[in-house]
Amino acid sequence: MVKEKEYIATRTNYLPYGKQWVDDEDIETVISILKGDYLTTGPAIQNFEQSIAEYTGSKYAVSFSSGTAALHGACHVAGIGGGDEVITTPMTFAASANCILYQGATPVFADIDEKTYNIDIDKIAEKITENTKAIIPVHFTGQPVDLDELHALAAEHNLIVIEDAAHALGATYKGKPVGGLSAMTMFSFHPVKHITTGEGGVITTNNEEYYKKLIQFRSHGITREKELLQDDDHGPWYYEMQFLGFNYRMTDIQAALGISQLKKSAFFLKQREDIAEKYNQAFSDLPEIKIPFQATMRQSSWHLYIIRLDLLKLTASRKIVFEDLQKQNIGVNVHYIPVHTLPYYQELGYKRGSLPIAEELYEEVISLPIFPKMTEKDVEDVVAAVRNTIIRYTR
Ligand SMILES: *Cc1c(COP(=O)(O)O)cnc(C)c1O
Repeated sequence: MVKEKEYIATRTNYLPYGKQWVDDEDIETVISILKGDYLTTGPAIQNFEQSIAEYTGSKYAVSFSSGTAALHGACHVAGIGGGDEVITTPMTFAASANCILYQGATPVFADIDEKTYNIDIDKIAEKITENTKAIIPVHFTGQPVDLDELHALAAEHNLIVIEDAAHALGATYKGKPVGGLSAMTMFSFHPVKHITTGEGGVITTNNEEYYKKLIQFRSHGITREKELLQDDDHGPWYYEMQFLGFNYRMTDIQAALGISQLKKSAFFLKQREDIAEKYNQAFSDLPEIKIPFQATMRQSSWHLYIIRLDLLKLTASRKIVFEDLQKQNIGVNVHYIPVHTLPYYQELGYKRGSLPIAEELYEEVISLPIFPKMTEKDVEDVVAAVRNTIIRYTR
C-alpha cells in the first residue's frame, strides 16, 4: 500500500555517514606549525590542552595520540589492574572495554536503558561486587548519561567514574558541559567525531594527581619535574623513568589542527542539531521507525542519528532496508555490534543472550548520515530515501 507519492532517488554520488570539515583556516594553521620549531610536544600542544580544558569546564586536559590511548591512560592512573572489575556498556565501540583489558582487569557489561540506549544505572548496581573498581559510561550518540544518579551510585561504592565522551564534545548535563563532571573524561578527535586532529584524544580532569600521572604515562613513564624525582638530581640532563608508560603523544601538527577546529565547534554543534531536528520532523509520522528519545536536562551533541525499525510493521529485514538505502547512495551504518558478542570477547567467555536489550537494539538500528558539511539537499535526499524505503516495505 502506497501512502504517498514514492520518492525517486536522485543522488548520483555516495553520501558518507560522517565526514570531517577541514577548511583553509585549518590548513594555514597546520602549515604554520610545519614551518616552525616544534613538530611535537611544543606550544601548540599546551594551547590545545588549555583550550579543551576551558571548553569543557575542567581544570586540566592531557592530549593523547588517540582516544583509545587516552582511555588506556585513564585506566592506568585510576590504578585499575589485575583482579579489578570495571563496569561498562556493551553498546559502544570496542575501545571502551579494551582499555580495561589492557590493564589486566575484567570488563563487566551492564545492559542498556530501553529509551536512551545508554547504560542502565540500575543494571550497573546489580553488577557491583567487592572487586568493582570503576565505571566507564558512554554518552551514546552524544546524549549524556544521568550523571547525578551515576555519581551517587559510584560514591556509595567508592568507584571511579571515567566517562567515555567520544560522542559528546559540546554536550551538556543540567546546563554544564561534559568534561569537568567526573574523575576523568575522554574525548576523541577521530575524523568522524565533533572536531578532528586526524587521530587524537584527550583526558580532562580536575584532579592534579591524575593530571601529572597522565602526562608521564603518555611519555614512557618518564619525568623531569624536580619535585617528582625519586633519586638525587644528576644535573640539567637528568630524567627518571618511574613506571612503564608508552609513547602516546600527540604531535603539534595535530594539536594545531585541533585548536583551529575547536573555534568552529559551536557552529558544528548547531549544524548537527539542525539536521537531527529535520530528521525528527520528517520521520515523526512514520510508525515503522522510532526516532531518538531525548531525556530532559541533557543536551545531546548529536554525534550519531539512529533510527530504530519496528520490524513487525515491515515486510523487510533490517539488512534489506540497509541495502536499499545504500543503493540510493545513502551512507548508512550500524552502531554498534554489542562488544560482548565480538569473537574476541566470545573467546573470553562472554555470553550471547546475557544482555538482551542491547542485543535486540543491535538487530533493529540504522545510523543515518549526520555531519556539519551536509547540505540541505543532502538532508532532503536522506529523508526522501528513508521514506521511500520504509513506505515500500510497510506491511
Ligand atoms: C571513537 C570512539 C573511541 C575511540 O577513539 P579513537 O580516537 O578512535 O581511538 C572510543 N569510544 C567510543 C564510544 C568511540 O566512538
